[in-house]
Amino acid sequence: MNCLEARIAKDGVVKEGNVLKVDSFLNHQMDIALMNEIGKEFYERFKDLPINKILTIEASGIAIAYAVAQQFGVPLLFAKKSKSINIAGDTYVAEVESFTHKNKNTVLVSKQFLTKDDHVLIIDDFLANGCALQGLISIVDQAGGTVEGIGIAIEKGFQVGGQIIRNLGYRLESLAIVESMDPATGKVFFREQ
Ligand code: 5GP
Repeated sequence: MNCLEARIAKDGVVKEGNVLKVDSFLNHQMDIALMNEIGKEFYERFKDLPINKILTIEASGIAIAYAVAQQFGVPLLFAKKSKSINIAGDTYVAEVESFTHKNKNTVLVSKQFLTKDDHVLIIDDFLANGCALQGLISIVDQAGGTVEGIGIAIEKGFQVGGQIIRNLGYRLESLAIVESMDPATGKVFFREQ
């Protein structure tokens, strides 16, 4: 069991509706030592690729992406969420439906910071149905850049996102894949990797 799986088993809280809360160490209060370990692990997994930019989505992807960007020594770019329909023409835009909040967000990246020369590693905290990732992939495509790989801290393997993204041919690496979880007992079961 890797250190992220061990931490999820110890401190993760299983909620109804297929939601896993990791607020005590990953996306509210953050364990910086764990973040740094995650950054190093993604670097080991993707260091063979010509990555020159890390892309994530606000808010909870930013801390993990920061740790990854530090290992690669490249900029971290995050897509901003906006409810505004007045979108200026100097941004790439995608619609993303939030799994946890059940609402739609427009996400934006300034054209200034993403171009056809970029080789991007996309990072996020969770993968559920894959909407957030498809939005980020669309933004890189709009810029004419290349998605070199995708790194996810926690994939919920019983939801469809992982299969959709892998079927599209992307190199997707998840540090922990939850096979099932039980809100009654609080137990989390992981896929062997
Ligand atoms: P997707 O777009 O793949 O359906 O959902 C991914 C996004 O929803 C992630 O960016 C993450 O913020 C949020 N998310 C999805 N499932 C969970 C979950 O079980 N727990 C938490 N904390 N966030 C989740």
